[in-house]
Amino acid sequence: MQTHKLGNTGLEVSRLGLGGIPFQYISQMETNQIIQTAHERGMNLFYTSRMYRDSENKIGLGVKSFRDGVVLGTSTHKRKKIDGRKDIEQSLRNFGTDYIDVYSLHNVLTLGVLREIMSPGGAYQALEEMRNAGYIRHVGISAHQPETVLEALEMAAFDVVEFPLNFIDREAAAGLLADIQSRGIGFVSIKPMVFGYAATASVALRYVFSAAPDSTIVGTYNLDELNENLAVEEAGGEVTGDEIMEAIAASERGCYKVFCRRCENCVVCPQGIDIKQVLRLYEYFDRYHSWDWARDAYAALNPSLEACDNCGACERECPYHIPIKRQLERARVDLMARRSARRLVRKKLLGK
Ligand code: SF4
Ligand code: SF4
Repeated sequence: MQTHKLGNTGLEVSRLGLGGIPFQYISQMETNQIIQTAHERGMNLFYTSRMYRDSENKIGLGVKSFRDGVVLGTSTHKRKKIDGRKDIEQSLRNFGTDYIDVYSLHNVLTLGVLREIMSPGGAYQALEEMRNAGYIRHVGISAHQPETVLEALEMAAFDVVEFPLNFIDREAAAGLLADIQSRGIGFVSIKPMVFGYAATASVALRYVFSAAPDSTIVGTYNLDELNENLAVEEAGGEVTGDEIMEAIAASERGCYKVFCRRCENCVVCPQGIDIKQVLRLYEYFDRYHSWDWARDAYAALNPSLEACDNCGACERECPYHIPIKRQLERARVDLMARRSARRLVRKKLLGK
């Protein structure tokens, strides 16, 4: 397993790490097997989020006998200091550890969210205080827009950035990665398997390795997937342009036709609906099962999808011919109807 320095943190990390999303859906025994095998084969970066339910607990138990030999990372999606602090304390308890190597602000979507987090009383202060107290070794940020990352780096001292990098999202490889690494900040790439749309691990991972982030984290649901990923890492090798084009085509033949590339051509919406954000939330809801988070974020959208008058302007502008109206309707039904159903159940059971 190749290892790299994680920026100037002083940590040495495996170029392939494990992401925590799958652990919320598999048993502790299955998690232990994956973590044990990964550790034996040289992986030392285990990264998750408070959002991913009991994944911190499972990782904590999985690494218990070799805690000091691994790099533990997690993140909070809370925006206020008081809530961020509670999340950090909960993460420490969940992992069963005295310190967490990297603690990040999770999924900082927009400049507005970033400014809220960085303002007095914002979540960044909680991370800073806990770092000064020794409970956190390094502070990170995960985001999906380069401008958010770059402004964050101007505003505060982040040690690590997590950003999507895959054969579809090539933006980071085109400049952001080099910029961040030149500042001595660690770069952990996320979404190497393109939200599960990548047809095979081989091209997807070789593409990411060729871009050379410090590490990339990938979620694995079983030992077969883990062994496949490890075999790609061990074999190494360059990826060709033809292989990338074929991988894109193969993904399109699957369910990739609905995958929003966040190009922003659809900002023409006369109602001001943030279409790419809705599609993104729906991806998290549908593919990552981040139900509560997606519902909450959807409920906060302004304007909401109720403002859509079906004019079709967005579809005419989308260069990838995504059936946007159909996808928005699916998102609206799934993200709102189930919320309404839940409210009804709560009202019936609790009378509120
Ligand atoms: S169809 Fe709806 S979402 Fe699309 S541009 Fe028209 S109002 Fe906006
Ligand atoms: S135009 Fe299409 S690909 Fe681009 S952001 Fe809108 S929905 Fe996504």
